Amino acid sequence: MQKRGEFEPPVPVEIDPVSGRWEVGGLPMVLVPQHLLVNNLDAVEARVGRDEAGQLYRDAGRRSARHWCEHESARLGLSGTATVEHYLDQLTRRGWGRFAIDVLDPVRGKLCVRVEHSALLPVAGSVRSVDRACYLFEAWLEGALQHASGRPQPVTVREIRCGIAADECLFRSD
Ligand SMILES: [Zn+2]
Repeated sequence: MQKRGEFEPPVPVEIDPVSGRWEVGGLPMVLVPQHLLVNNLDAVEARVGRDEAGQLYRDAGRRSARHWCEHESARLGLSGTATVEHYLDQLTRRGWGRFAIDVLDPVRGKLCVRVEHSALLPVAGSVRSVDRACYLFEAWLEGALQHASGRPQPVTVREIRCGIAADECLFRSD
């Protein structure tokens, strides 16, 4: 375990000197405070409920994960499975949590992933629901698995245990 301190970002950031916009690996990026992200989730869940919020974000999450995986697969020449491994490694490097793969079998549509220190858990002052808090990751994992499998229909992935009530979050395909 590294000591806490200031480090160079674990992903290379390119900054346009004119616009100030960020890019990582050729994709535009923004650095977002965790409390802003969680507060936005809070607000939507308070209005429509957790399950409906999950459905609202599902297609966008899947599509965005597929887009990222297609971009990185083409840029780095990775196979489907290697792309998913790269995706979860990059999520870890970017502070979304520590992702670990227990099962990854795109051909059979099987996946089991653990996440420690999820960035989607409630922050101080947050009022969000306290089970399946990390449902955004469900859609991201579905999109990544769909990319790797090449199937037209995504496999459903569920957060079956959340770090709020356990040491880590657990995601598994149906
Ligand atoms: Zn969770």
